[in-house]
Amino acid sequence: MFDNLSVKLDRAFKTLKGQGSITEVNVASTIKEIRRALIDADVNYKVAKEVTDSIKEKALGRDVLIAVSPGQLLTKIVAEELTLLMGETNVPMDQTGNPNTILIAGLQGSGKTTFSGKLANMLKKQGRTVLLAACDVYRPAAIDQLKVLGEQIGVEVYTEPDEKNPVKIAKNAIKYAKEQGKKSLIIDTAGRLAVDEEMMQEISAIKKEINPSETLFVVDSMTGQDAVNTAAVFNERLDFDGVVLTKLDGDTRGGAALSIRKEVTKPIKFISTGEKMDAIDLFHPDRMAKRILG
Ligand code: GDP
Repeated sequence: MFDNLSVKLDRAFKTLKGQGSITEVNVASTIKEIRRALIDADVNYKVAKEVTDSIKEKALGRDVLIAVSPGQLLTKIVAEELTLLMGETNVPMDQTGNPNTILIAGLQGSGKTTFSGKLANMLKKQGRTVLLAACDVYRPAAIDQLKVLGEQIGVEVYTEPDEKNPVKIAKNAIKYAKEQGKKSLIIDTAGRLAVDEEMMQEISAIKKEINPSETLFVVDSMTGQDAVNTAAVFNERLDFDGVVLTKLDGDTRGGAALSIRKEVTKPIKFISTGEKMDAIDLFHPDRMAKRILG
């Protein structure tokens, strides 16, 4: 995960090797390298500048203890700043509501259906009764995919193959969940290959009509700055509650994880790290910062 970024940051810290203290002069090139590493990782220039300015200010303001080298101190400060950038702490999902309804939105291929299965599996393991609902009225294959996942994890999947109105399917799924006494309902929606007006209207209509406890926006971390831009467009229309960052097991550069919170002002709540049903984790900014810094 974020191998390139980790290597480049490590190289930046090494430029302080042999120095007894951090000074305006010797830290300048290190800061420049950190900024370069962040920009290469697909972090927006403005954000990278703000973060590195803050790192510099903190580094110059803090005394280097005898036990800590300037490189170690800077690593610690960078970890703190990256943690802050990513939102400091995990923001839990709202688990209230009867049923607790979770709406899943995002582009096609982002990993929505896979994540819906994983979340259902996670909630089931917590002892909740879960219902999955397939609201993709355009791709029958998407409904089948959810059914296969449901079977795999032992979670019922609500479908209405002949209904072409996703709002109706979502409402009926809530009714069915109530009748069956299910505690959680996860609604997987249709995605398009690119943001379009029809898609936005559809997902906004579903949200407005069912008023879910939680709306999660799923995005492929491999798409870097595009992920941030897509998140911003969805947020404007959908005002979602949190982000799910998928495919972090791939060769991602890290820009999406580092920038979304700051640029879209919504927390990343979950990360997805593989195709298997247990490859899901809560997003913890401090742990992520530690992983980036190796
Ligand atoms: P949807 O169109 O948004 O519902 O996306 P899918 O859930 O069908 O996922 C698209 C593809 O990405 C599938 O081949 C998934 O197996 C794969 N996928 C989803 N999440 C992950 C992940 O976290 N890591 C990896 N490596 N692949 C994933």
